[in-house]
Amino acid sequence: MKIAILDADLIGRQKHRFPNLVCEKISAYWKEKGAEVVLKLDYENLDDYDQVYISKVFTDTPVPEGLCETDRIHIGGTGFYFDKAPNLPDEIEHHMPDYDLYNEWIESEVSKAEKVAIAEKRAFNRDNFLLQFKEYTDYSIGFMTRGCFRKCPFCVNQKYDHVFRHSPLEEFYDPKRKKICLLDDNVLGCGQWRSILEELIATGRPFKFKQGMDERLLTDEKCHMLFTANYDGDYTFAFDNISDYDLIHKKLHLIRKYTNVTCLKFYVLVAFESTDADDIENAFKRIELLMRYRCLPYLMRYQNKNDTPWKRSEYREMYITMARWCNQPSFYKKMTFREFCLANQDRIKTEGKLCTAMRAMTSFEEKHPEIAQRYFDLRFPKKVEDNWVEK
Ligand code: SF4
Repeated sequence: MKIAILDADLIGRQKHRFPNLVCEKISAYWKEKGAEVVLKLDYENLDDYDQVYISKVFTDTPVPEGLCETDRIHIGGTGFYFDKAPNLPDEIEHHMPDYDLYNEWIESEVSKAEKVAIAEKRAFNRDNFLLQFKEYTDYSIGFMTRGCFRKCPFCVNQKYDHVFRHSPLEEFYDPKRKKICLLDDNVLGCGQWRSILEELIATGRPFKFKQGMDERLLTDEKCHMLFTANYDGDYTFAFDNISDYDLIHKKLHLIRKYTNVTCLKFYVLVAFESTDADDIENAFKRIELLMRYRCLPYLMRYQNKNDTPWKRSEYREMYITMARWCNQPSFYKKMTFREFCLANQDRIKTEGKLCTAMRAMTSFEEKHPEIAQRYFDLRFPKKVEDNWVEK
């Protein structure tokens, strides 16, 4: 039996660097049955295989036209079906992933890069090069819970109306791997959040919730457990909606009772409700609050499988510039938004020519001086202004 597995995001997105968990589970399932499993890196000669599985996570990943489900070709994932993605059969869904699926591809990337370095007479550091593949090589990956009760209209997670236990940790935890990456959508909304965190902490391995956690559900006990745990990298939360402003403010205050780390990242959704000046102002207002508490915003420009509204906005360049500023902490922590745009302009050698950032900033400021005056000169503070109140 010959099985082809295609990770469409790996094939179709430059620099994509995260394993497809479904592909790894399908691979393990078929290898256990004695099949010959291949991670295919193109769409050629699919007729040579008895079964072909194509999975994608991102809706905008390109795939060949006319690709559809047949008895032999199976397509799946949110990238194809958005919020209607069918579940995998239980025997695959609950199978230990095949963490070796990508090994050959990683080795081929290493040897390609090594050849280029030799041709260019450069030194090649294998360990440094391998860092980009750490999600493939270092992590056990899985879902301890599934579902969410919030039903945010922009989210693919619409199938369930509650959070429930999905996999026991040992279903996907490989003690040979250094770290654990959880893909849960809203772990803090699960009734068993405490035992889940206890299990993770007991492994002694650094762990992270990659999809972000629901900050609105934080309590003293949750903060204590999370911020004393061996957490891996940034704590990620979301501040998607301006209507949560007061609640998020309260929770930021709570977080700061437990930790003063700056690796607290908040997804800030923009261009969903509108793509006008109000949306830009809402984004800045959320950024301002996060900044007061020395947190890092990460601007997420909304898109769905059919549309990318911010690209049609008269403030398109503003969205790009804001994202470039706040999604790069080294800029956001050192420069105000205005300073960031001026620094970009400084790099332009042609006299009279405006860079994208400068053009975006000046034209927005002309139309909306009151918004610019309030937000363009915000500076990341040296310490948390805990008693800060919005003026
Ligand atoms: S809280 Fe998060 S996971 Fe839940 S519906 Fe909203 S965006 Fe999706």
